[in-house]
Amino acid sequence: MLTVDELKELKDIVGEEWVKDDLPTRDAYSIYYNSSSLNKEDKLWTARPAAVIMPKTPEEISQLTKFCNRKDFMLKPFSTGWITSSAPGSRKTILLDLKRMDKIIDIDVKNQIAVVEPYVRAIDLQSELWKHGLNVHAVSCGGNHSILASTAAAWGYGITGASMGYQARNMLGVEWVMPSGEILTLGSPGDGAEWFSTDGPGPGVRGLIRGFQGTFGGLGTFTKVGVKLYRWDSDPEYEVHGGSPKYVLNRELPNLGVFILMFPSKEQITDAGYKLGEAECNYSDFRMPAFFIALGFTDNNLELKQLWSTGVFQKLARYVLTVCVHGHSKKEYQWKVKALKQIVKESGGLILPMQQIPLAAFDIVKPFFKMFKNPLKLITKIPFIQEITDMMKTSEEMRLKLLTTAFFILVRHANNSQGGFRASSGMFTSVGAFDTWDMGFEQADYIAGVKRPAIEKGLILDDGGDLGSGGTFDFGHLGYIEGIGEYSTNDPESRKATKAIVEESLHGTIERSLGLPIAAFGGPMNQLFGPHCYNYHEMIMKIKAKLDPNSSYDSWTYSGASEKAFPDEKEGYTFF
Ligand SMILES: Cc1cc2nc3c(=O)[nH]c(=O)nc-3n(C[C@H](O)[C@H](O)[C@H](O)COP(=O)(O)OP(=O)(O)OC[C@H]3O[C@@H](n4cnc5c(N)ncnc54)[C@H](O)[C@@H]3O)c2cc1C
Repeated sequence: MLTVDELKELKDIVGEEWVKDDLPTRDAYSIYYNSSSLNKEDKLWTARPAAVIMPKTPEEISQLTKFCNRKDFMLKPFSTGWITSSAPGSRKTILLDLKRMDKIIDIDVKNQIAVVEPYVRAIDLQSELWKHGLNVHAVSCGGNHSILASTAAAWGYGITGASMGYQARNMLGVEWVMPSGEILTLGSPGDGAEWFSTDGPGPGVRGLIRGFQGTFGGLGTFTKVGVKLYRWDSDPEYEVHGGSPKYVLNRELPNLGVFILMFPSKEQITDAGYKLGEAECNYSDFRMPAFFIALGFTDNNLELKQLWSTGVFQKLARYVLTVCVHGHSKKEYQWKVKALKQIVKESGGLILPMQQIPLAAFDIVKPFFKMFKNPLKLITKIPFIQEITDMMKTSEEMRLKLLTTAFFILVRHANNSQGGFRASSGMFTSVGAFDTWDMGFEQADYIAGVKRPAIEKGLILDDGGDLGSGGTFDFGHLGYIEGIGEYSTNDPESRKATKAIVEESLHGTIERSLGLPIAAFGGPMNQLFGPHCYNYHEMIMKIKAKLDPNSSYDSWTYSGASEKAFPDEKEGYTFF
């Protein structure tokens, strides 16, 4: 507990109103949608932070860091706090909620660079950038996430990765309050130049502060980041009608199209993914598992249940890739669409008409789908099937409705998390190594098998097993698929089954050489995976010990439980 004098010291740094140590505030910061997955005892609450502070400047954070160097407390910074790794790892942790640092500092239109503070969300930056004909890579947790966090602090996989890559590589300089309290600007801005590189001129330790997964708030606070931007050659704004949670675009946007590509087999979807990348057709793409397609076709869970129980989607939509094509001119757009259609044809796939199909239609075709194991294999053999499919029309509103759903996922990143939370109260994820596009599907198949017994026992939601979600990166040079599942956060048996699945998947990924999963961060996970990956865990611990000898930053999500943590806080797992 902070003493009266210590509290006064903190308030003197940031101002009285920005230091909160009352119980309701501290409790509000100790619960996350999946907190119980962080500990073996299935506790819903994380450690209660010692205080919550909302600083405004790097200088204030520097002083707070120096305070923790002298005292028996630690800092844990976060930008939006959306993900559980923002939680305090100890009752001695002071949370830094960086919401007040919310400025877009610069948009360099000519050189396609933005410089932002922590609480600039992807959707805010994107909305501003579109006015300048520019765009930014957003990770698939949605437009609500912090661009600084995904660039400098944690993971970075997203749907626009097809053309915009992995977010860590979009980092162009970073301002860093080090664990000592010193403020260091890395890369070109550190040498007094513009924000164009993290590696120099100027100090360059990208591997140390970002690495592959990130430092998750365990090695100082990042207060500004330069991020690489990409072109946007469509309208700067759009109009919608309807209401939450379903808005519908009033009209299509120029030079932009969304396509739902269906393939009969895994080989065909992967081959098409590579070819689309070679032709640079995919501005963004998403391997949409059948259950999520059904979700996108329906407005509520009752409809979803009815649609899913027809069994049509399980057979028709096993291998679906949704693709956004964007041309930087009308001519380029037309060429890309032509190339996409040719690739789908050569790969033996089918482009689904952009029409929200009435539910009753699925009841009619249900008997046909029941008869065949892989009906799409037969359907794609019908002469002129694509031409026939293209002629299917319902209404303009139904077309715009489906288009909007896909647009908000693939372009605005605005309703991505609906997939994870609408059908049940919680989602978990597993596997998710950044490797080849083919390997993504291997991971999806593997985790579908692990989930099956729990689905059959009714412990987790029956999503068909394969909820492998992800896409291609760097135009097919890399791929990423993580194995999602949906469970009930209110049901202890469901939570238990979820933990067992995730735990099995961790060992399974090692046994099957499925790469470093998304859960490979924090002490216990690094200990598990490090020995199979050049002992990277030892390097992380050395970096932490050298740069943060006084444990000024809570490191439970980085190098492991903090030295300052209480003994009962040093046990535990880190996955979500
Ligand atoms: C439902 C859901 C789905 C997700 N899907 C994806 C996905 O598809 N791809 C992906 O890459 N990630 C995903 N994430 C993880 C995560 O949200 C993202 O990686 C995102 O980049 C982090 O932004 P944020 O606003 O969520 O960060 P926050 O929640 O604010 O922080 C994330 C981590 O970074 C640290 N951090 C944040 N800001 C700073 C800072 N200024 N200085 C130092 N450390 C900091 C925090 O301590 C925390 O550990 C998902 C999360 C959720 C909840």
